[in-house]
Amino acid sequence: METVLIIIGVVLLVLIVSGALLVAPARRRARGARAAAPRQGAPPGRAGSAAGAAAGALAPPAPAAAAAPAGVVETPPPSAGRMARLRGRLARSQSAFGSVLLGLLSSGRLDEARWEEIEEVLIGADMGVGPAAALVERLRTQVKVAGTRDLAQVRAMLRDDLVAQAGPDLDRGLRVAPHGDRPAVVLIVGVNGTGKTTTCGKLARILVGDGRTVLLGAADTYRAAAADQLQTWAERVGARVVRAGREGADPASVAFEAVRAGIAAGVDAVIVDTAGRLHTRAGLMDELGKVKRVIDKHAAVDEVLLVLDATTGQNGLRQARVFAEVVDVTGIVLTKLDGTAKGGIVIAVQRELGVPVKLVGLGEGPDDLAPFDPETFADALLGS
Ligand code: GDP
Repeated sequence: METVLIIIGVVLLVLIVSGALLVAPARRRARGARAAAPRQGAPPGRAGSAAGAAAGALAPPAPAAAAAPAGVVETPPPSAGRMARLRGRLARSQSAFGSVLLGLLSSGRLDEARWEEIEEVLIGADMGVGPAAALVERLRTQVKVAGTRDLAQVRAMLRDDLVAQAGPDLDRGLRVAPHGDRPAVVLIVGVNGTGKTTTCGKLARILVGDGRTVLLGAADTYRAAAADQLQTWAERVGARVVRAGREGADPASVAFEAVRAGIAAGVDAVIVDTAGRLHTRAGLMDELGKVKRVIDKHAAVDEVLLVLDATTGQNGLRQARVFAEVVDVTGIVLTKLDGTAKGGIVIAVQRELGVPVKLVGLGEGPDDLAPFDPETFADALLGS
């Protein structure tokens, strides 16, 4: 009889302990899984996204459903100092600019014609006509006042001016800290092809690498491939993704569901990818305005990051103007800086919008997105 009672007691104890483990908070489980998981390499592209879509537990009906993370979860590296580490990517594409400029400064007489050539090189780097002329004027005066032709000194003056032009005092911090039990909300906007979806994925990695939890919303409902791609990025870092049950669903309702799911899951930040169809200004305004309004019902939008392709020059600036008219852009993400010698676009676009470049894309790898740093930028422009 005694033995029977002891066995019943042990069984009850086991049941109680396993029950307690099952109700452990989801957030702690997610963090634990991330910490324990091994790391991987290549970036998820559109081609590899079908597997991700298949692995995700999509649950129609429309408008949106949260897919649970599946597969191996990676631990991305923290973002601090990343631009300095990736500087080689920038320096390689800018080296022609730097060497031509320094060649001009060091050779022969610095006469009117030579200064004009220097100005042309700066304009050629997409810095903008006004800023290039102003920079040359300042440098000319400084060289005259200092009475120096010493290349190291002139180079240092030029570097200092470039740093100043890049706005060393601008607040480039990403507002991604949660507000109590509400997540920070980051809207990613920009024209298709600029690297918008890739940036959502890379940003998710940055946040996870910096110790935050994220949820991604695939509100670009016009392209199933974009949602698939986003899902693959999300799964790799153990994040959840909310996507439409069908192509062409209302982007605003996906954004709404993403933020609601983010609040329910207790994540730190929700990143929402939006459609970048620049069909008409009014259409864009309607769509992005609606997305923002519905999100505002749940939580404030903390960041609106405009993604621009650095290789598109003036065209990129035109896009920037249109988006800035439609939404309050809080930061710029300049992608593909690794593929252009026109790094001066950083200066031009900041002047144009009065908004800081917060992140720069320096390659196609998953961790090739870096917080922008003016000093590293100036050094890279000068090819050092
Ligand atoms: P979206 O249409 O704006 O969402 O653009 P995607 O995110 O699909 O990106 C378009 C292409 O640009 C992809 O092939 C990306 O790998 C590529 N891309 C994005 N950012 C960068 C970058 O910083 N450097 C380079 N070299 N390629 C990039």
